[in-house]
Amino acid sequence: MQINSVPAGFESGMNNLIWIMQSEEQSVATIVDPGYAEPIINYLKKHSLSVCDILITHHHYDHTDGIPTLLKEFPNSKVYGPKESPCKFITHPLQEGDKILSEGVHTHFEVIETPGHTLDHICYYSAEKQLCFVGDTVFGAGAGGLFEGDAQTFWSSTKKIMQLPSKTMLYYGHDYTLENLYFAKKVEKNNSHIYTHIELCKQNHLYNGCSTVETEHLVNPFWRCDQPEIKAACEDYAEQLLDKPVDVFATLRKWR
Ligand SMILES: [Zn+2]
Repeated sequence: MQINSVPAGFESGMNNLIWIMQSEEQSVATIVDPGYAEPIINYLKKHSLSVCDILITHHHYDHTDGIPTLLKEFPNSKVYGPKESPCKFITHPLQEGDKILSEGVHTHFEVIETPGHTLDHICYYSAEKQLCFVGDTVFGAGAGGLFEGDAQTFWSSTKKIMQLPSKTMLYYGHDYTLENLYFAKKVEKNNSHIYTHIELCKQNHLYNGCSTVETEHLVNPFWRCDQPEIKAACEDYAEQLLDKPVDVFATLRKWR
């Protein structure tokens, strides 16, 4: 099984990453968050793949707009997504703790509900493959926008991903990693890991598109709300004392 990203919307600054899990022996693919159909269809044709499953993390158009076109080409695909989602293409609604098997790519997933970016947001965690598709809950050294939930909700969801095993690969929905690292440097300039990862990110895109739980604990300011240097920077910015990590999280979200 291979996992590749198809970049889309980079010209408009959306920087979406559509993830394709593929099985060579069966020539099938599972697509995560197909916001754009054309680049996926091109990829599938080039690699002679058909679609078995579509996994949706949340309802935003840049994660779902490609679904109707894919279903026209591959009408038997299952579309997994959050229960009670505004996205109307979901055929297999999911909630916290549900387990699914994406047969074509031989991978089991467990559903983790992560409201905050949107209220319907879910992540797909595979313990056996040590990976998680995190959509817009976690970005490289950053986090998605706070559109529908409040800061407490988003912070609680973030902590669920922070608690996954350290080697878990995280595949996110957008790549703003370098910009996020520059912001991370601004709020925690004595963290040497950030400088290392800026270099990794510049060379060969080693830290673009995906990361690990271990790395995010080292560099992601949204995961490091308990660090005194970040807390102090956020207190300066907010011009008030911030007692709890969630207050630091809320301030970072407003600031970045
Ligand atoms: Zn979104």
